[in-house]
Amino acid sequence: MVSIRRILVPTDFSDCAALAVRYAAELADKFGAELVLLHVAPDSVLALPDAVMPTPAPMADLDALTEAGRTGLAHLISALKLEAHKPRTEVRLGSPGQEIVAAARDLRADLVCIATHGRGGLARVLLGSVAEEVVRHAPCPVLTVRPGAC
Ligand code: ADP
Repeated sequence: MVSIRRILVPTDFSDCAALAVRYAAELADKFGAELVLLHVAPDSVLALPDAVMPTPAPMADLDALTEAGRTGLAHLISALKLEAHKPRTEVRLGSPGQEIVAAARDLRADLVCIATHGRGGLARVLLGSVAEEVVRHAPCPVLTVRPGAC
C-alpha cells in the first residue's frame, strides 16, 4: 500500500519552484504528510571563477550561504502563506541535484515534488538539469510540475 508521510520539495526560489511548493503543500495536506522545503546553495558559488580546482570557502562564507538559504526559505513560507502547514526547512551546500537526491535518502522522503524548470530558464528543454538528475537518481517517486500544468 502506498503511504506518503513525507514530501520533499526543493526550491531555487524561482517562480516555477513556487508552483511545485504550492502543489506539494496541498498534497501534504491531503495525505497528512510532513512537508520539507529544501534549498541547496550551489557549491559553484564557492569556486573561484577561473580556478581549475575549487578553492574551499572560508567558514564564514559557508555560514553566510547557509543563513541566506534559511532566510530565503522563511520568506517563501511567508510569501506563500504556508505557516499552517508547519513546513520543515533544510539548507544544504553542494551540487543541487546530488544534494536533493541525498536529502531524499537521508530524510526518507516518500515523494519528491520538483518543478521541471527553474532559474535557468531554458524552457525549450523538457527538464532542467537539476530536475533531470533528481528524476534519474531519487530513491523514491518524483512528481514533476510543469509551469502552466497546475
Ligand atoms: P533550469 O535549468 O530551468 O533552471 P533546473 O533543473 O535547474 O532547471 O531547476 C528545476 C527545479 O529544480 C527548480 O525549480 C527547483 O525546484 C529545483 N532546483 C534547482 N536548483 C536548486 C537548488 N539550488 N536548490 C533547491 N532546488 C533546486
